[in-house]
Amino acid sequence: MESSRCPPEELRIRILSFDELRQRALSAYLESVAVPRSIRRQGRDRVRIMRYVLKCERVFQVVAAELGRIARLPRTTSMHPFYAEIANIASHGRFDEIVARAARGVMIVSKLWKEYRERILSSLTPAEAKRLAREFVGRTLSVARRSLRHAELLREAVKALRQTPCIDTESPLVIVAGMPQVGKSTLISRLSTAKPEISPYPFTTKHVILGHMEVDGHRIQLLDTPGLLDRPNSEMNPIERRAAAALRLLRAVTLFLIDPSRDSYYSIDKQLRVLRNVSEIVGVDNLLVVMNKVDKVDEGRLKSVEELVEEAGFQVKYRISALKGWGLGELVRGVVEELRRRGLLA
Ligand code: GDP
Repeated sequence: MESSRCPPEELRIRILSFDELRQRALSAYLESVAVPRSIRRQGRDRVRIMRYVLKCERVFQVVAAELGRIARLPRTTSMHPFYAEIANIASHGRFDEIVARAARGVMIVSKLWKEYRERILSSLTPAEAKRLAREFVGRTLSVARRSLRHAELLREAVKALRQTPCIDTESPLVIVAGMPQVGKSTLISRLSTAKPEISPYPFTTKHVILGHMEVDGHRIQLLDTPGLLDRPNSEMNPIERRAAAALRLLRAVTLFLIDPSRDSYYSIDKQLRVLRNVSEIVGVDNLLVVMNKVDKVDEGRLKSVEELVEEAGFQVKYRISALKGWGLGELVRGVVEELRRRGLLA
């Protein structure tokens, strides 16, 4: 297993649909071809036969090149498990199978071309060469169709991977979890030394942020995991499954943010259910429960929410206001301590 820090570079390709590839192959076939002078000396029929050879060669090259590009994609087994999971969620677990199918396609069309090249070259008449050329193009396109059967899933996977931020698996990571609207991105923006990298993460329709903070000369990454809702793993949509993949597969300290306000977007009850789900994924010991938005909540309310958190089996470790910057120094110190305790920071 490679501990690649980023989605693999080779994924920066656009995958054609079968229709697009067929279009390209057919236009390559229809383009005019120049027959070498040496052949022209052999008479008109040879020239016409040779034209079919050259046209078919172009079709072969277009199809083999496209399938070859897919075949050279890295398999999920060579990716960091997190990126492998992102690829599999988007491709319904078929990423490697689709890549292997393209690799087989390249072999089959190469064999076909070898065979038809000989046969077209040995044609006795241009009419025979034309018939064979058409047969070759038809068979090649049918191999391409089969090879690209699930290409749209692959395209989705490549897109999802490309949009996944480059998480440095060698440097410490803090995952900020919690339901929508609790203040995750506000907190990351607030803590980040540089402007956080905002990418159209596939976790959600909302943009995700990967921030960085410098503490004691260490660069600590902060990752938002939007999309967490209160439902069992079996009912999760791809957005939630990706968030769960980050929690499960990236070594990190997880902050779980709770919005205690009376007008919070999701009830405390729902937030606690998600807290329970998250703790099942990362383990209670790897989780710090943080009460955000304390600037807009009175002490009585805070206390009663904290009691509910305790009844659920957790403890609020920090009270902060991401918006006003309250309590953040203490939170950062706590995070650093926790990273050290977990051996994630020297
Ligand atoms: P996310 O969906 O968890 O990333 O939440 P956002 O960071 O987008 O915040 C949701 C809303 O809560 C925004 O309107 C923020 O301005 C607001 N918000 C975030 N943190 C605080 C806070 O500490 N206090 C108050 N009063 N509002 C906050």
